[in-house]
Amino acid sequence: MNASIPTSLTDGLDAIIEMDAPLAAQTWFGVGGNADMLVRPQSEAALKELLRRCHNENKTVRVLGSGANLLVLDEGVDGVVIKLDQPAFTQWTLHADGQKNTAHVPAGVDVLKLLNACVREGLDGLCQMAGIPASMGGATRMNAGGKYGCIGDAIHSVATMNHRGEVRVHPHSAIQFSYRHSALPQDLIVWTLLQLTPGDPVALREKMLDIYKFKKDSQPLAQHSAGCLFRNPVGHDGTRSSAGRLIDLAGLKGFTHGSAFVSAEHANFVCANKGGRANDVLELARIIQERVLQSQGVDIEMEVAVWGRSFQPKEKK
Ligand SMILES: Cc1cc2nc3c(=O)[nH]c(=O)nc-3n(C[C@H](O)[C@H](O)[C@H](O)COP(=O)(O)OP(=O)(O)OC[C@H]3O[C@@H](n4cnc5c(N)ncnc54)[C@H](O)[C@@H]3O)c2cc1C
Repeated sequence: MNASIPTSLTDGLDAIIEMDAPLAAQTWFGVGGNADMLVRPQSEAALKELLRRCHNENKTVRVLGSGANLLVLDEGVDGVVIKLDQPAFTQWTLHADGQKNTAHVPAGVDVLKLLNACVREGLDGLCQMAGIPASMGGATRMNAGGKYGCIGDAIHSVATMNHRGEVRVHPHSAIQFSYRHSALPQDLIVWTLLQLTPGDPVALREKMLDIYKFKKDSQPLAQHSAGCLFRNPVGHDGTRSSAGRLIDLAGLKGFTHGSAFVSAEHANFVCANKGGRANDVLELARIIQERVLQSQGVDIEMEVAVWGRSFQPKEKK
């Protein structure tokens, strides 16, 4: 066992534990180093116990969803990475507790599988998520979405767990949902309750496929990326402009740095070659930021979460 991880962290824990666990295959970029420890709790009780032990042992905790908005650097990550992909966290309930048109969704649920199930069941409210890879925890944290709406539109309430293992439920009215952000505590999201509306399954399927087609036609969905790398910046008039357009105007469409490149299809998609370096992606991000600042006078910030042993993220604006 890695000397920096005490056995008191894992002894008797109802969880799948992997030391020195490769994370590349767990992210959509498909690059990056290992986690000192990857833990998959088998129950909410085990998750609670793990968070308490990590806090007592002063270990950094990171939560991995579907890895669709995440760059893990080549140096890997210290502490404990938690993945909620065991059955206790991946099974949703429709019309939960007799509440009509709701979905109780644990954080590890694949949002696209849920979307398909809702459409089949004739439940509307999630079609805006077509073509957006995410776990429910990651989608809730990022308030994922786009032109057709965001996940926050369908959220009734969210349950979070803090480092003492205490669960708090936040109603929609107490959460400020904004562009790619939900104002929740920096705790682990355990489940999200969705409020949906009845709809015709055939019409919903058409709506979902139309939205997916729009995304597929404008974004390189088959490449290794994390979607849009940069946030759309806010201008002097308070409206957001397209970071992709600024990158394009800076002449960077198709630009390559080592094993990373700017998509020729959508300039805000930075992609990694199979077997490439995560650090090439981060270096390319820095080059893009510099060139856009020089040529367009706009400071763009990364939307994608970056994990690394020595990496300190900049404060979000
Ligand atoms: C091809 C492609 C297209 C995309 N298109 C879009 C798009 O149109 N719109 C959009 O908004 N996004 C888009 N994205 C980005 C991504 O799909 C979203 O940001 C999504 O919400 C990420 O969810 P995830 O589960 O993969 O989170 P991860 O990438 O695993 O994690 C993202 C962040 O959420 C945190 N997190 C994850 N789970 C939890 C939890 N249970 N509790 C607390 N924090 C948690 C992580 O710690 C991390 O900080 C795209 C990505 C790809 C690869």
